[in-house]
Amino acid sequence: MSHDVVSPVDETVIASVDEMGEAKVDDAIARAARAHGAWAAIAPGDRARLLARAAEAVDAAREELAHLEVRNAGHTISNARFEAGNVRDVLAYFAGSPERHFGRQIPVAGGIDVTFREPLGVVGIIVPWNFPMPIASWGFAPALAAGNCVVLKPAELTPLTAMRIAALCHEAGIPEDVFQVLTGPGSTVGWRFVTHETVRKICFTGSTAVGKRIMAGCADQVKRLTLELGGKSANIVFADADLERAAATAPTSVFDNAGQDCCARSRLLIERSAYDRFMELLEPAVSAFRVKDPSSEDAQMGPLISAEQRRTVEGFVPEDAPVAFRGRAPDPPGYWYPPTVLAPVQPGDRVAREEIFGPVLAVIPFEDEADAIRIANDTPYGLSGSIWTNDLGRAIRVSRAVESGTLSVNSHSSVRYWTPFGGFKQSGLGRELGPDALEGFSEVKNVFISTAP
Ligand code: NAP
Ligand code: MG
Repeated sequence: MSHDVVSPVDETVIASVDEMGEAKVDDAIARAARAHGAWAAIAPGDRARLLARAAEAVDAAREELAHLEVRNAGHTISNARFEAGNVRDVLAYFAGSPERHFGRQIPVAGGIDVTFREPLGVVGIIVPWNFPMPIASWGFAPALAAGNCVVLKPAELTPLTAMRIAALCHEAGIPEDVFQVLTGPGSTVGWRFVTHETVRKICFTGSTAVGKRIMAGCADQVKRLTLELGGKSANIVFADADLERAAATAPTSVFDNAGQDCCARSRLLIERSAYDRFMELLEPAVSAFRVKDPSSEDAQMGPLISAEQRRTVEGFVPEDAPVAFRGRAPDPPGYWYPPTVLAPVQPGDRVAREEIFGPVLAVIPFEDEADAIRIANDTPYGLSGSIWTNDLGRAIRVSRAVESGTLSVNSHSSVRYWTPFGGFKQSGLGRELGPDALEGFSEVKNVFISTAP
């Protein structure tokens, strides 16, 4: 069986990929398990060198990978270049890990006590379609660095870059059975990772609904699990902030990648006293947002990923929705949807509560700091968010009070590979990236050695 891959830019079929069934998946997992002993036994410096070579191979193919993602996912060429560079950087960063994956020596009576960080074995990584390249690398690079073998399932809509990156890693010397990309539906390939006893950990990014099902499935084998799920992040703008900068950057914070970003600041909380001024500044920034052929060098936003995703987004903006203003988008073919600002929105409205995963911003006025914090936290999610203020004390107070894993002050940066990334509440479980990422891909083993004569 095979599956057609369609470009969201012009709705044409660009590739056909294998749709693996359970037998093929089981075969791949068995090969990974057989390869594990030798991979785990490689000297740390040699494993580091292989990851560094993989980083170089990705670097050399950056332009090719970027253009592939423009076609397959409709990402703008500038974003796609950044994403391919991110894979290189994540590989290079974790190439530093095998030689620094320290255990401890703990003082005890009667001998010495040391800890080792042992690899888990075979790790299953399940990747969504919104950022196919970076999200794959945030899983496979630290997993390989810690001495695991990886089976990785890309989303059915966007498998092409993951397949190419795996081939580049193999050319760089990482054995084929150590890192395998398996294509096919989530309910078959992804679910088999959950039920197969040899897969010791799942690293899942995607919807909260599927994440919950995977968590329940993992319970059966007490399988290790990292979840990166949905978000409904707040961009909180206080009246004392640099309103020009806050308004100029707000569109990118929610419309980047057509809003298909778990960190999208899809709720804009604005202090009521600055509401009118802020909306005056926001309108030209939204109408100037360049939605066009994503292969254009100056495109800021491309189409949505699929017709289904466009229907979902449209469902959030019915005829009587409070549309304050919208940007422009090209006509079909392509799954286009214009940047849309809804205002004012009440905190209890559906558009203020549910993840839309499209270019729709809900603007919510607030009265004071306490009100802002209350509204920001009034959601089951807690992934990201931004705080705009020139009051340092307030910036710190609000950063500590917002229940969210990744916050930025007077900026919208969120995922930096040097720092931990993950969610509070129903946005996820565990942390990826940063200095401690390998803890999620290894077990601590304690060994006591008697010195008794
Ligand atoms: P999804 O269904 O959660 O898919 C994410 C990944 O999980 C895909 O690789 C998918 O495979 C796989 N999968 C699906 N069902 C599975 C199962 N039963 N067992 C194991 N793996 C399974 O997300 P989606 O359908 O692509 O998107 C739906 C909504 O999820 C979006 O509108 C958005 O709200 C949210 N979302 C969030 C993120 C995020 O980064 N937090 C990312 C993507 C989507 P296939 O695609 O191949 O079936
Ligand atoms: Mg799905």
